[in-house]
Amino acid sequence: MARRRQIYEGKAKILYEGPEPGTLIQYFKDDATAFNAQKRGTINGKGVLNNRISEHVFTLLGNIGVPTHFIRRLNMREQLIRQVEIVPIEVIVRNVAAGTLSKRLGIEEGTQLPRTLIEYCYKDDALGDPLVAEEHIACFNWCSQDELHDIQDMAIRINDFMSGMFAAVGIRLVDFKLEFGRLYEGDFSRIILADEISPDGCRLWDMTTNEKLDKDRFRRDLGGEVEAYQEVARRLGLMPEGNENAVLDLESHRKKKGS
Ligand code: C5P
Repeated sequence: MARRRQIYEGKAKILYEGPEPGTLIQYFKDDATAFNAQKRGTINGKGVLNNRISEHVFTLLGNIGVPTHFIRRLNMREQLIRQVEIVPIEVIVRNVAAGTLSKRLGIEEGTQLPRTLIEYCYKDDALGDPLVAEEHIACFNWCSQDELHDIQDMAIRINDFMSGMFAAVGIRLVDFKLEFGRLYEGDFSRIILADEISPDGCRLWDMTTNEKLDKDRFRRDLGGEVEAYQEVARRLGLMPEGNENAVLDLESHRKKKGS
């Protein structure tokens, strides 16, 4: 049997050629990086949880009419996605001050922002994904004005939907990162949501205790990373009742079998 072709390897995911033209397989690794890969580690079981959480969120977003690259989950660590041309911008949506916003502007972490803030970073690891303005996006033509409008509209819709979804399970959606891609259909292309939505790219705080349920546990050496991701999955109803470790158990079972 021929080995499938790897298209790309990122910090937390690998993309393989898909079964049909225009599709890819997105594989979720357990690798974790922070601070532009200066800090590296492994969170056992993270990939399985992120695959499941991202499937859930992308499916719900699809149901409310947000176009996404997600087709279906294939197994514990893989999902089938549509191949897109990634727009080289990370879109950061913020509801509450935290992370680099707090650092940059001296705003105390946890301060509710008076309105939702959208920021853009240019996707370039060598440059450390620098913050850019809309002017830079237009000037360097990273996407068109129409595409940027679609991205902004979708980011706001996604934020509204996800804020409600997480609030319903006692989680505050502090901020998160989105990536978008161009889906080509004949001579035309349209913008769709790509990448993943998981605790790797969101700040999620327990609404009553403010406990961090996201990658800040890794970034800040707080420990309990996988338990936090599991808690998010559990609250979203993605962990089988009565066996909180089922997802991870199955994975280790598979590893033992060598499959
Ligand atoms: O670090 P910063 O405060 O700018 O991050 C804002 C949000 O975007 C956080 O939820 C973080 O997890 C996410 N992010 C990301 N990937 C990056 C930069 C930020 O997922 N390269």
